[in-house]
Amino acid sequence: MSELAQLLESSLPLFTALCTVLGLLVGSFLNVVIHRLPKMLELSWQQQCADLRGEENAKSAPYNLLTPRSACPHCHHAISALENIPVISYLLLRGKCRGCNVAISPRYPIIEAVSGILCGFAAWHFGFGLAAAGALLLIWALLALTAIDFDTQLLPDDITLPLIWAGLIFNLYGAFTTLHDALLGAIFGYLALWAVYWLFKLATGKEGMGYGDFKLLAALGAWLGWQMLPLIIILSSLVGAVIGIILIVAVKRGRDIPIPFGPYLAGGGLIALFWGQTLTQSYLQLLAQ
Ligand SMILES: [Zn+2]
Repeated sequence: MSELAQLLESSLPLFTALCTVLGLLVGSFLNVVIHRLPKMLELSWQQQCADLRGEENAKSAPYNLLTPRSACPHCHHAISALENIPVISYLLLRGKCRGCNVAISPRYPIIEAVSGILCGFAAWHFGFGLAAAGALLLIWALLALTAIDFDTQLLPDDITLPLIWAGLIFNLYGAFTTLHDALLGAIFGYLALWAVYWLFKLATGKEGMGYGDFKLLAALGAWLGWQMLPLIIILSSLVGAVIGIILIVAVKRGRDIPIPFGPYLAGGGLIALFWGQTLTQSYLQLLAQ
């Protein structure tokens, strides 16, 4: 085992290749999480409501991340291991189900490819070590949250809360910052958006974002330290404003339709993960001049 660690430490290309493959494989599992977690939450909420009404528990078939097996949503053709190779199977099948020839959503290979590319980049950027391991975990959580928020306008606690803890634990060993800065990052990250939420609500009577957004920024603060919070907020607001304007102008999307903020926070967080130190140093230098 230590020989493998030595090999990976000495060869950055090998470590990068390994993390890319791992990213592709986990990307395939992320597709399951993105598809099923919101449904699992909905089922459990319905169950709780039924319990409160004192209704008899209808025993339904188990539905979780492992069962039932993946199948075509159209013809229920069970997806074999060979049809489940990230990206490659999609290309070989020419984007169609083997059972019924209905088109498979390109989103599946896109999520797998993005996960593979980001994990490979993280490996190459950080090199073999704790920071790379943490970066991979953070990338997977942010990808899942982005897609789920986009689909359902939800950022599930089942991902955001463990992500806060994971950031604190990685920084207990100094993966990205000190535990002190990480803890302040979690606290200020939550409070910053909480304050914006209440100011916006008092001023306009509307809810501009959700509690999930506060927890996501708290998690990013826990991973990257409080010093990164202004940068993350600026980056995500910039990306959000540009995409929001494009949606309103090009798609004639109504101004009142809520646009999920989670994906922009996740994007800002990823940029801060890789280039945060460089970016904050350069703007602090600009301020000092
Ligand atoms: Zn099918």
